[in-house]
Amino acid sequence: MNTLDDLAGRVVLVTGASSGIGEHLARQLAVRGARVAAAARRTELLDKMAAEFALPGGTVTPVGLDLCSTASIQRAIAEVERHLGPIEILVNNAGIVHQAPATRVTEEEFDRQFDTNVKGTFFVTQACARRMIDLGIPGRIVTVASVAGIVTMPQLSVYGMTKAALVQMTRSLAAEWARHDLAVNAICPGYVATDLNAEFMASEAGRKVVARLPKRRLATPEGLVEPLMLLLSGSRSRFINGAILTVDDGYSVS
Ligand code: NDP
Repeated sequence: MNTLDDLAGRVVLVTGASSGIGEHLARQLAVRGARVAAAARRTELLDKMAAEFALPGGTVTPVGLDLCSTASIQRAIAEVERHLGPIEILVNNAGIVHQAPATRVTEEEFDRQFDTNVKGTFFVTQACARRMIDLGIPGRIVTVASVAGIVTMPQLSVYGMTKAALVQMTRSLAAEWARHDLAVNAICPGYVATDLNAEFMASEAGRKVVARLPKRRLATPEGLVEPLMLLLSGSRSRFINGAILTVDDGYSVS
């Protein structure tokens, strides 16, 4: 049985921890005593967060990571293990979005979204799971996908395709690694107010989107903390594996 209930001292890798949802989740994990490896490209932002946690208890260690480079992924995972020990929990949060009508999507934007959201996330997950399996760690992997991977969203065809791939990655890996005591689950947020969509949400089109949401409001990164904690808790989610948990304020059923 997976008993990762107490996060104190646990080694957690959070990708995309330099802003938005990932930053918030990384901070909350550190507040709960985890030793958080906060990974992203903008390491100056990670350094700032690490400095705030230079206190007893949970810690934040900045790690440079570019999901578009498999060499960078291998380096980052090795660095985390060297500094903190083997990764026990992986939070796959990093991702990008490019909004465009399908007729205007360029090959470059298509590749950038797939390389970051799908390829990069897969190879981080593979690298972490290999070590968890080799070392017999009952690991937990949670991927921040999106409801865009389940239902359609305006001008997000390619982004939605990448998130649908992560939904299927979650199911496939949960099945493949269950015998190794790894739990692989995904959270699918709806619209969350972060840097990712700030510009769009401030526009006329963005305001129209909010007006059509079931509760006419954007979610906040805080709203994702407890769903994550549920999926990380061995006792509360003992039989949850391969789950795609929508945390979308009802968007996908509206
Ligand atoms: P932000 O833009 O605030 O954060 C994205 C994070 O991903 C940043 O920390 C960024 O760090 C990191 N990142 C981007 N590209 C790379 C890369 N090549 N290598 C490593 N890290 C990278 O967005 P959000 O917080 O909103 O998004 C976080 C996740 O949540 C994403 O996967 C997004 O798809 C998902 N999501 C967001 C929703 C929303 O409404 N905001 C809704 C549903 C899902 P850096 O630039 O420093 O590398």
